[in-house]
Amino acid sequence: MADSFKALVIEDAGGGKPKGAFKQLTLADLPDNDVLVEVAFSTVNYKDGLAVTGKGRIARKLPMVAGIDLAGTVVESRSPEWKPGDQVLVNGWGLSETQWGGYARFQRLKPEWLTRLPNAFSLEEAMAIGTAGYTAALCVDALEAWGVVQQAGREVLVTGASGGVGSVAVALLAKGGYRVVASTGRPETHDYLRGLGAQDFVDRAALLEKGPPLGKERWGGAVDSVGGQTLANALSQTAYGGAVAACGLAGSADLPGSMLPFILRGVALLGVESANAPRAKRDAAWARLARDLDRDKLKAMYEVRPFDALPGLAADILANRIRGRVVVRVE
Ligand code: NDP
Repeated sequence: MADSFKALVIEDAGGGKPKGAFKQLTLADLPDNDVLVEVAFSTVNYKDGLAVTGKGRIARKLPMVAGIDLAGTVVESRSPEWKPGDQVLVNGWGLSETQWGGYARFQRLKPEWLTRLPNAFSLEEAMAIGTAGYTAALCVDALEAWGVVQQAGREVLVTGASGGVGSVAVALLAKGGYRVVASTGRPETHDYLRGLGAQDFVDRAALLEKGPPLGKERWGGAVDSVGGQTLANALSQTAYGGAVAACGLAGSADLPGSMLPFILRGVALLGVESANAPRAKRDAAWARLARDLDRDKLKAMYEVRPFDALPGLAADILANRIRGRVVVRVE
């Protein structure tokens, strides 16, 4: 094992402002958790972009190793649940917020945070999915649990479609037999989204305009990673008895909408949270991904980039310059 290794650490850049930079760490620097994992891959989610650039206060204590996701191999374990050689992944659980995260060659983690790598995926593919893809699966699970599946014939809207959550949501919903309509602000991604299973498109700008409290009923359901006016419009255009799974705020954290869709159409707003989701929900989401995420579609969604590229990638995801997903090789 290397004496020291590289990690991307958020520190106080002055005046309490957080900012990420590469540093050398040793095993002795790591937290005293029970399972030591050698990290092979991590990824860049929107939240990682906020953390690494310092544009969002994600880290709640400093210094903090960033990275909300990791995939790797157990090296040492004081837990009977895990043994050296086990391949594992972690999504969330406070990584990069209150717990040191995946942007380090080695990390010590609590046994209950680890998910066994599904047989269907390599470590690289698990990070191509990452928190964004696992959250997309949680959204589809939430819609189906609500009963959107019964809205046969209705279209399902995916907002922020060419982003990480959006891309995986499009692929999963299309595989589930839904007619998927993708909302994107990047018309150049239409061919890519068609390849993932989108059948029609809505311009992002159309959903950013203020609409009526009750719009024309169009969607059986929706997966929204944008928030703000887009979420309000998705709700107002959802058909009687439908639901919107809301997981993101890439556009806005506001909800400038009306009560009418709830009380006149029985529309549901389903909040989706991934970082602290209980084990059963995680396992169900990963089982859906293993079953329904076509490998060729997954391949089309991501590229692998070196560890050194992380600061640039963090800025890129906030500037909407990333299509689909990015895997980071942790070296
Ligand atoms: P991405 O940046 O990959 O995707 C976001 C997409 O939203 C973009 O690709 C873009 O889609 C669209 N978008 C970006 N900016 C705007 C804007 N100003 N107005 C309208 N649309 C915009 O991010 P992720 O997929 O990683 O995350 C998406 C959101 O979901 C984030 O807010 C993230 O924090 C949240 N999230 C929440 C989780 C939870 O547990 N609740 C877990 C994972 C993510 P296009 O170019 O196609 O228009």
